[in-house]
Parts: sequence; C-alpha cells; structure tokens
Amino acid sequence: MKPIDATPWPGELPELVEARAVAVDELMLADRALAMAAADRLRAIERLRRLSGEQGAVGDVRSARARELAHRSLRAEVAVALHVSERAADALIGLAASLHDPLAATLEALDEGRISERHARILVEDTADLPAPDCMRLERAALPLAQRLAPPRFRGRLRELRERMLARTAVERHRRARDERGVWVEPGRDGMSWLTAHLPATEAAAIDDRLTRLARRQGARASEERTLTQLRADLLSDALLGATEGEQAAIVPTVHLTVPVLALLGHTNEPARLEGHGPIDIETAARLTAHAPGLTRILTHPITGTVLSVGRESYRPSAELRRWLHVRDGHCRFPGCGRPAARCDLDHTTAWAAAHGETRHDNLAHLCRAHHTLKHHSSWTAHQLDPTGTLIWRTPTGHIHVTEPAHRIEGVAESPSPGSAGRESRRRPPDSAPPTAPHVPSSTTAPPSPPGPPVPPDG
Ligand SMILES: [Zn+2]
Repeated sequence: MKPIDATPWPGELPELVEARAVAVDELMLADRALAMAAADRLRAIERLRRLSGEQGAVGDVRSARARELAHRSLRAEVAVALHVSERAADALIGLAASLHDPLAATLEALDEGRISERHARILVEDTADLPAPDCMRLERAALPLAQRLAPPRFRGRLRELRERMLARTAVERHRRARDERGVWVEPGRDGMSWLTAHLPATEAAAIDDRLTRLARRQGARASEERTLTQLRADLLSDALLGATEGEQAAIVPTVHLTVPVLALLGHTNEPARLEGHGPIDIETAARLTAHAPGLTRILTHPITGTVLSVGRESYRPSAELRRWLHVRDGHCRFPGCGRPAARCDLDHTTAWAAAHGETRHDNLAHLCRAHHTLKHHSSWTAHQLDPTGTLIWRTPTGHIHVTEPAHRIEGVAESPSPGSAGRESRRRPPDSAPPTAPHVPSSTTAPPSPPGPPVPPDG
C-alpha cells in the first residue's frame, strides 16, 4: 500500500514522505477495520433478531400481534444497547436482515472491508421494495461500483442501473411510496424546527399537535382504514389545499410550555422548555404565556403542597397529580424514547391490580402507547427506586437501563399514607420549610404572578 513513486516536495525530507505514507496506510487499515466491525455488528443484530423471532418474550409467536410485540421488544433492546433511537435501531435491524438475505454478497464485501456500511445501507434502501431475484441482479451489477465510488455518487449510479433494469411501472412504485406518506417535525437550532418548512418551534409543535388530534378524531371512525401517519399527511394537504372540513376548525392545538417564573421576571437566565422540543428563549415564552390560546402554561415555582398521592382509593390520578407528573417526566420514560408526555399514558409501575400498586407519584410514570403495551405484554420490567422518579428498566436479556425524569423534584420524600386522601390534609402549611430544589413545578393558566405567595394550582 506504500506509494510507488512518492516524490518529496522540493526541500522536503524523504523520511517525512515515508511517514505520511505510513499514516495513510494506517488510515486505510482502520477504515477496513471499521467496515469489518460494522459487518460483525450487523451479524450480531441479525442473530438477535432470529433468536427473538423464535423464542420471543411473548408466548405465541404465530399470532401477528405477538410477532409485532416481539419485534418492538427487539427494537427497544437494540436501541438501548447501542444508545440510538428506536427508529435508528429499526433501520439497523432491517439492514441486518436484508444483508443476511437476499444481499449476502454485500455483507461479504463489507466483511472484507471492500465497501463501507454507508454503501451497504444505500444498496439495501434502494432495493428494499424489490423481489429477491431483482435485488440480487441489481446487487451483482452495483457492487463493483460501490467499491470505487463515494456514497452519493454510488447512489446516483445505482438508481440509473435500477431504472434501466426494472420493468415495474412507475404507477405501481408511486402507489407503494404513497403509502409511506407522513408529516414529521424535527427540532432545529435557535428555537426553530423543521416541518420541511423552517418554522419557529412553537408554531411547528402546534401544527404537529393539531394534525395528531385531527388524525385521531378521523381515525376513530369505523370506516377509516388509513393509518394515523397517513391521516396526518392527508390532513396537512387538505388544510393547505383549502379542503374544508367543518370539524378541523374546532380543534385548537395544545402546546406545553414550562417557564421558570423567576426567569420570566428577569431574575435568572434559565430557558423555558417547549415540550417535545427542548429549551426556547424566554422572550418567546413570555409572549406565549401572555397571549397564545390553547397553550398549557406550566410555571415552575418554588411552592409546596401538591397532592402527590391518592393511595389505593382511586385508579385514576387526580388532575393535579397528572399535571405534576407531566412536568416531572416530560416525555415517555422508556429508555431512549422522547415522545412528549402529552401523547403518553400514565402507567402504574407496579400494576394497580397488584397488592402494592398504588396510585401515587412514585408508582406512576408516563409511557407512550407503544412502550406501555410493550411493558405489559413482554418481559421488559421497571421499578421506581426513589421518590424522585428514577426508573430502573430490565430488558428481556437481563440488561439494566436507568432513565431519569426531565425534572428532578426534590422535597417529596415524605409520602402521605395511603387511604387518607383529601387535598387539604396533603398540603403543607404555607409557612413550612421550602423544598430542597429550586423548582417544584405547579401549573396554572393564569398570567405569571411575582415570586412570593405560591401560585395556586388550578382545578
Ligand atoms: Zn415511548
């Protein structure tokens, strides 16, 4: 791999040229090692997938629902093991499966360090909708290109090859692609988000929320066969193209915004937090807390006295406790999941049906529907170790993952004894010691009040 006719620049030492050549050799070796390691990683994922399919966490792997749950469990296991999102884990699982069959020659090339994982991914993505014989035909023609072209150019050449080789009609391919339609919001920098349009994060979040609400309503109709994702896309098109559906106008989006009161008053620089997005500037937050309708304004304020437990008296937590948990959790509490709490269920960590499963803050946590289902129908388990909401998860393979709440709320260690609910009895007198952390959130829809007297939680 040493250069054959390495010529030093005028005045350059031959030893220096030699040293550079060695460095490049090392770089290429390292790159090959990366490709080989990627092949190993994909083989391990595929092995795990096959093991999960046959003896999944759920009893009957022949039913579609059981298979779906086994897959979700697998996806979560890969995601937490690699510290990637479940979407990324899903992509890796799909990549590993495709490279096992039918694109085995691509995996071999990766294993020998002849192509990179990106090349392999491009081949898998652009052949995913093809029957196996077409896949392998395209693979044979494309692999030599993958060995010498950079990924973007390789993708271009692969698509040309594909168009030439395939007889499938454009209509059929479009129909398949159309089924994949959807709307996604991705957080950007400086308080902005991408909804393919670049919008202020608050507006993007409101659009996202409204689409979900409209899609849920539409999806609840018995005659509706479209998925929630497809409905969101169709509703976006309808709205922009002027289709008038009377009910659409009636739905006001809800956006959750957590604002530190002291920052609002200019005493600290702490940012406000827009749920599902992250920090936004305090000026925008101040404008929103003053004007926007349909905005749940959660002002964090050092007050005491939130009702944290209703013991065994009720399965359903009070509105106050739910708001409190909403602020504490912020999002789904499954490892790696960031789905906003507003779109999650409240799960009894120890089932309410069990003897010790109480309806109280240290036995409740937000889980999105997918992870809620997973927890109840597979061998994923969770425990709450302390009163501040830390969750200890055990995966079906016995790996342990810890998830932290969005806001750690101290000063709630003492829990009222179960069975003696009643709001007033739970509330500490106003002159009692303040909690140890600066922010015990309460929520209110009233304009911010100055620090001093506690902000009363609304009903
Ligand atoms: Zn989740």
